Amino acid sequence: MRIAIISDIHANLEALSAVLEDILQQQADRIVCLGDIVGYGADPAACVMLVREHAAFSVLGNHDAAAFSPQQRTYFNPLALEAVRWTAGQLGEEHASWLRQLPYRVSFENLLFVHSAPRAPEEWDYVFGGMEARMQARYFFERVCFIGHSHIPGVYPLDSDVGEYSPSHRFIINAGSVGQPRDGDWRSSYGLLDTVAGTYNNRRVAYDVDAAMRKIMDRGLPPRLAQRLKAGV
Ligand code: ZN
Repeated sequence: MRIAIISDIHANLEALSAVLEDILQQQADRIVCLGDIVGYGADPAACVMLVREHAAFSVLGNHDAAAFSPQQRTYFNPLALEAVRWTAGQLGEEHASWLRQLPYRVSFENLLFVHSAPRAPEEWDYVFGGMEARMQARYFFERVCFIGHSHIPGVYPLDSDVGEYSPSHRFIINAGSVGQPRDGDWRSSYGLLDTVAGTYNNRRVAYDVDAAMRKIMDRGLPPRLAQRLKAGV
């Protein structure tokens, strides 16, 4: 089975469309989403619609939760806060209730999917590197845990020092961000796991970043949210 793992779309419709196109070309059997479908970008409703249409399932991200629950906005910085308030007004009851029923974790085929970290997905901890990943290893029993949240792609071995993915070891894998990459590369990031071939690839996909930036400005969202897209930060 070829599984495409998408995360942190952040209402960037141009990025999501380009990634779905690439996934089609890669002939994935299934798409799974690690959350943060909305927040920051200009097209929250359209992105929720596309994920509902194409993904087998999605887990809940902190920006999704904040969109329907003001208590979840406590730790948001002013930029994120302004964006999430605008987002909440855009969603409508139907999309908001769909987000509300998303689970914190999904497990299948010896794989775990969460937005933030396996220990306590609802606490929104960040896993930025190998050390933090290893501290999470004993909190899940599946072989691989896929995460998003930091917007920085990475493959972190838990029970070995192998430099890249292998089907005989345990890993935490960050799929990176579709709609707001922060590793200095503006192109969308997503993951492609092939359970038959035993491979994992991080794919980068160019999209119409200028259109996405223009829409953020046109909607009256903070200009910083447009600028950071092109810088990949
Ligand atoms: Zn995010």
